[in-house]
Amino acid sequence: MGRFDEERSEMIGLLRDRLITDEKILRAMGTVERHLFVPEPFTNRSYEDNALPIGKGQTISQPYTVAFMTQALGVRPGDRILEIGTGSGYQASVLSVLGAHVFSIERDLDLLAAARKMFDRLGYRIATKGGDGTVGWNEFAPFNGIIVTAGAPDVPAPLTKQLADGAKLVIPVGDRKSQALLVLTRQGEELIRREIEGFKFVPLIGKMGWQ
Ligand code: SAH
Repeated sequence: MGRFDEERSEMIGLLRDRLITDEKILRAMGTVERHLFVPEPFTNRSYEDNALPIGKGQTISQPYTVAFMTQALGVRPGDRILEIGTGSGYQASVLSVLGAHVFSIERDLDLLAAARKMFDRLGYRIATKGGDGTVGWNEFAPFNGIIVTAGAPDVPAPLTKQLADGAKLVIPVGDRKSQALLVLTRQGEELIRREIEGFKFVPLIGKMGWQ
């Protein structure tokens, strides 16, 4: 038994209560040890349903948000998934445990180094790159899903271009204070759009993001 096993299973109960129904996601989030991605002095609060500071003015997303976005993305084992905003590495780890081939981009090289260290320690095989993710990662496109974990002023065009047919782009779009979560599904040349209000992310900073 790990130190936080009980807290983690309580968190899963909470996600169920909040209508996260995908058992594979609940199982993956029951496996990944979120407390390893949360720095001191916040480690003891790792299994509360809150975003927490990870340094450099950034945050690890709230567990509910991770579960909701992952569910919206519709991940299947073997999918190639691009994440923009590695941050702590927690969301990427959940996707990896779900059986996705994860490609993750982070602009802050210190955060990226810490996340990579944790991936190695836990044996998660995740491809990472330091830099501006708003232009995507063309070398490995098309992706079966793209998830952006920082809030954008608009949908970056390069990301929609790197979606495979039938794939989804999940991205918070709005002003700097609050965003709606957009779920865009590529169908041939068309993008089908669904929108869920009421999210709050740190800003996506880059060429196709905030300045
Ligand atoms: N998915 C992360 C959440 C991190 S918060 C987790 O599970 O912990 C969002 C992250 O996006 C921050 O680390 C921030 O540095 C990064 N970010 C912001 N703009 C970016 C950009 N244009 N390209 C790549 N990363 C970016």
